[in-house]
Amino acid sequence: MSRYYTCLLYVALLLVAVPSTDAAIRQTKGDFEDRFRQLDEVLPTANSYRTAGGEPGHAYWQQKVSYEIDARLIENSRRIEASERITYTNNSPDTMRFLWLQLDQNRFRTDSMAELTQVFADSSRRGPKLEDRKEDKPPQISLDELRRQQFLADNETGYQIIDVRSGGSEMAHTIVGTLMRVDLSRPLGPGQAVEFTIEFAFNIVEEDAVSARSGYEHFPEDEREGGNDIFLLAQWFPRLHAYTDYEGWTNKEFLGRGEFTLEFGDYSVDITVPADHIVSSTGVLQNPADVLTRTQIKRLEQAEKADKPVFIVTPEEALDNEKEATKKTSTWRFKADNVRDFAWASSRKFIWDAQAYHQGGDVQPMVMAMSFYPREGEPLWSKYSTAAVIHTMKVYSRFSFDYPYPVAQSVNGPVGGMEYPMITFNGPRTDEQDDGERTYSQAEKRFLVGVVIHEVGHIYFPMTVNSDERQWTWMDEGLNSFLDAMAGLEWDPDIPWKVEPRDMVDYMKSEDQVPIMTQSDSVLRLGPNAYGKPAAALMILRETILGRELFDFAFREYSRRWRFKRPTPADFFRTMEEASGVDLDWFWRGWFYSTDHVDLSIDRIWKLRLDTKDPDIDFERRRQEEKDKPYSLIVERNRAERKLWIESNPEIRDFYDENDRFTVTNKERNEYRKFLQELEDWEVAALERALAEDKHYYVLEFSNHGGLVMPLILQLTYAEGDSEMMRIPAEIWRRNAKSVKKLIVTDRELTQVVIDPRWETADVDMENNHYPRRIIPSRIEAFKSPEREGLEQRDIMQDIKTELETPDKDEKKKE
Ligand SMILES: [Zn+2]
Repeated sequence: MSRYYTCLLYVALLLVAVPSTDAAIRQTKGDFEDRFRQLDEVLPTANSYRTAGGEPGHAYWQQKVSYEIDARLIENSRRIEASERITYTNNSPDTMRFLWLQLDQNRFRTDSMAELTQVFADSSRRGPKLEDRKEDKPPQISLDELRRQQFLADNETGYQIIDVRSGGSEMAHTIVGTLMRVDLSRPLGPGQAVEFTIEFAFNIVEEDAVSARSGYEHFPEDEREGGNDIFLLAQWFPRLHAYTDYEGWTNKEFLGRGEFTLEFGDYSVDITVPADHIVSSTGVLQNPADVLTRTQIKRLEQAEKADKPVFIVTPEEALDNEKEATKKTSTWRFKADNVRDFAWASSRKFIWDAQAYHQGGDVQPMVMAMSFYPREGEPLWSKYSTAAVIHTMKVYSRFSFDYPYPVAQSVNGPVGGMEYPMITFNGPRTDEQDDGERTYSQAEKRFLVGVVIHEVGHIYFPMTVNSDERQWTWMDEGLNSFLDAMAGLEWDPDIPWKVEPRDMVDYMKSEDQVPIMTQSDSVLRLGPNAYGKPAAALMILRETILGRELFDFAFREYSRRWRFKRPTPADFFRTMEEASGVDLDWFWRGWFYSTDHVDLSIDRIWKLRLDTKDPDIDFERRRQEEKDKPYSLIVERNRAERKLWIESNPEIRDFYDENDRFTVTNKERNEYRKFLQELEDWEVAALERALAEDKHYYVLEFSNHGGLVMPLILQLTYAEGDSEMMRIPAEIWRRNAKSVKKLIVTDRELTQVVIDPRWETADVDMENNHYPRRIIPSRIEAFKSPEREGLEQRDIMQDIKTELETPDKDEKKKE
């Protein structure tokens, strides 16, 4: 807005509104809060490891931990027996006297902190259900919970640490819950490496019983005697905790929710399984000739040039496979470089398909996308899984960097969805019909495509951009949910993904919230808090605040800077701000550090009239205004009843009946002349120009009911019926975050203003976004009063005649 118009407005405002000083007073004392206060006092002080711009500093370091593992799956007892050789390289400037390892399997011990602190009514296992905490009803125990209790009572869980040894001599070690301290015989100085071995074993948990991110699933109805299993192995070997420049050892106990904080390293893993199993694993298979048939190897070569997935193990072969039994074993050897974890899956039930993705570039020009699934996943999996893996890489690489590894896999099993380097576990299944055909619902298809995109996406965040999952779930889940939404909407926008900011409204206005910046295990309602809300925030940042070009540049810069490194929240906030060139402290403060929501309202619009000061013009206008006012009903009816004295007695009319109060005299004309004479030349010029232009001046009054300051996205509709958009940055709220006024000067007559008409910002109340208010669109639903329920109301005579039906088994399994 130029200075020029400010002067004009002053003339007009004097006649219309008295400025209030209340707002100014509130800002200096009382409840004023500066929503634009810089975050530097909250973020950690920059140092040589991490710069104030959010980049790895000149002295950035991270440890390297490599593993050689020899593992054996004992199928009948569902047990892992293994030994590992760990090489720990100390790249820190510190000297270390001990190392801390993660013993995640110990979480399943009945005396673990996770089990002992499991809160009852925590029936969803991944966090208390809102309804359970609110309602004052007697506790109920679910069959899920009974199954879990029974499994843990019947099975010995947790690690057996058989031996810890370095250079031939035993190493002292101390187990603290899910942590194990190994004492070094000699201090490990900067730049030095130490090698040691651990021999260990554990019983694999049943995933469906304990919900473990890994475990076995049993198929008792398979033809093979004793049935079959799918084994998903993760958190299966003692691995190093991270040692970092900002926290030292990350020694927060594994409570089941906050995931993992890990170091990069190289892996060489030998996996011995029954000879008829197919193994999918992190890494690249080193000995295909030992474990695959010549046909399978040839099919893998075909997959390199195929334009759709090729079966490596066909459905018919898998079916034959799962009927057989063998006592033989074979050893699959995998190598994986620069990964932060290692997981694998094994079963004789697996169908296997593959298709190469030629992404080009020099990092990893060809990636083999593969899927492994039992017949229980068909026909859904062969159609969509590998395709979704490739789609994920295409979209994510555009937003970040080339997919960094030689393989990308999706494995079906009992885990709903979980990610590891190069391999993901995904749960969707199909239903068998009476005729043996298998079918699936649209929801199951959406689940499959969505979960594969999400979990494969995690291979970028946090498997490559290695954030601390134990501390900040949002750093991987939030960023990844943002990207999986982008990929989902690009896959097929007609699938109801429910991932846009508008879908977050109910959560944003709910009471049970903690800020996104809350440690993972303490978060209430993890899904919306750590997945949905940060994803919505990033979508708003991209589409509404920065625009795609600035956002995408900054997001790619963050990904590039922290690829194969360990970022903290501050590094993300600082990079996004620095690379976009836009101050975003207010945005991080509002969306990540507070529980405020968006609820902007347009309360009033004033139409200002510029008075000419010329009485010959203004008085006539005021006379007209008087005439335009609604006429008095009483007078109108009196006149109709001929009750007006002056009309029935015309002789009493005088001067004032001919000349009303808007009659101009020379007195007013002289005053006007004096007014003009006293004006400076520029003031006369401004006034004359404004009068000549005859523009419309509107003052729009906005208020903020939700707390979050946001841009004012305005749709202005004019008398001619067309409309235009006006986007006012959030900084308009900088001196008063509760209410602001905005002047709009236009040649045209304004008839309607709507805030955020495309529902971009998760505004929780759209009705106060309309001026004038609109008629609220809703649906008519015929309803009848609920019938009384109770033992007395049952029609027992009828019920007893009804045939007893057993509910479908799958129906019970759905949560
Ligand atoms: Zn996730």
